[in-house]
Amino acid sequence: MKVLVIGGGAREHALCRSLSQDPAVTELHCAPGNAGIAQVATVHPVDQLDGAQVTALAGRLGAELVVVGPEAPLVAGVADAVRAAGIPVFGPSAEAALLEGSKAFAKDVMAGAGVPTARSYVCTTAAEAAEALDAFGPPYVVKDDGLAAGKGVVVTSDRAEALAHAEACVGAPPGAQGPGRVVIEEYLDGPEVSLFAITDGTTVLPLQPAQDFKRALDGDQGPNTGGMGAYSPLPWAPEGLVEDVLATVLQPTVDELRRRGTPFSGLLYAGLALTSRGTRVIEFNARFGDPETQVVLARLRTPLAGVLHASATGTLDQLEALRWDEGAAVTVVIAAEGYPAAPRTGDPIEGLAEAEAADGTAYVLHAGTKADGDGRVLSAGGRVLSVTATGGDLGEARERAYRSVGRISLAGGQHRGDIALKAAQ
Ligand code: AMP
Repeated sequence: MKVLVIGGGAREHALCRSLSQDPAVTELHCAPGNAGIAQVATVHPVDQLDGAQVTALAGRLGAELVVVGPEAPLVAGVADAVRAAGIPVFGPSAEAALLEGSKAFAKDVMAGAGVPTARSYVCTTAAEAAEALDAFGPPYVVKDDGLAAGKGVVVTSDRAEALAHAEACVGAPPGAQGPGRVVIEEYLDGPEVSLFAITDGTTVLPLQPAQDFKRALDGDQGPNTGGMGAYSPLPWAPEGLVEDVLATVLQPTVDELRRRGTPFSGLLYAGLALTSRGTRVIEFNARFGDPETQVVLARLRTPLAGVLHASATGTLDQLEALRWDEGAAVTVVIAAEGYPAAPRTGDPIEGLAEAEAADGTAYVLHAGTKADGDGRVLSAGGRVLSVTATGGDLGEARERAYRSVGRISLAGGQHRGDIALKAAQ
């Protein structure tokens, strides 16, 4: 199978790594890719938001499967364009990807499907937002309605800060008028779980749960980020969690979208809070989560291409049960100085080869990197690397991941020291 992956972050590097290890994959391409992906796939420059460009590339390469990694091309309709050309594509249509692209749409689907989530108000003015904030009280949860790469959410007990974010979202600093929408919702207590499912629009195949770390600093301090690390499995998770979420969240959501005439195929990501009042959906995403993908795929034993192809061709019901490594995986993100507000790029990265374990138990996935042509690898984004390790248990995987992190140098680079720490104890 000739496969083309769209995207260029650590998630796509993880996808490409798994695909490159699948004996069914005869050619692996990625566009635009990054310096790390270029080691396992042929990379091609492309505007990943341009469906015509992506389709033309897929046609030229004779791709038999296109895997769209990030949310932005999905929301821009890239999967639709590829599908229209008759090429199997892993990833939802633009209409179905609105599940991630619009928090208001997601809330509406959940209401229709009877899926438990935080109570919320969709507001279009600062005055409405202020009223909603006071209806719920602190801590306040304020979400930009559109895509914001995980950074459009403010959770705070400071009413002024909450209101300021709401005003920015509706595009209405005092006095101005804007078309934006903001979602104000009830605060959900309890630990968070990311559960991914592969679906073809009808059949839903849950993967193993993972947990990510959204805040920039140790102890869940600092601003929200795209994610600073992740681990799987979750030894503390209640028994039957996956079956429960499949029955109450994933399957009803997929059924509801099909019923609406916008079937969802690809990766359905449920961000969940296990609250004192039961499991609630915090958010849906329409693609593999980053950095959870790095640890989930590290544990998947079933060759990946066949699974993604079955989603793309509507044949998931014929797939054998997925096989998983019984051990654990941990990934630690190394981010650039200034991330998330104003990351500095262009710094050389040293120690990449030294960080990889010869036995494959530790490896470096590239997020924002590029080769400078002189054999050096430079930082090229906010999140730079995703250092991933496996082990018999979380403690071992953690130790290996941090040993590798310690061998890498990036001027001003930052990482959390407490990824999977509590779960490993
Ligand atoms: P989201 O982009 O919706 O995943 O939100 C980013 C992060 O904000 C989540 O991972 C949570 O940590 C936090 N968050 C979002 N919604 C809520 C909520 N209703 N209650 C508590 N925390 C939330």
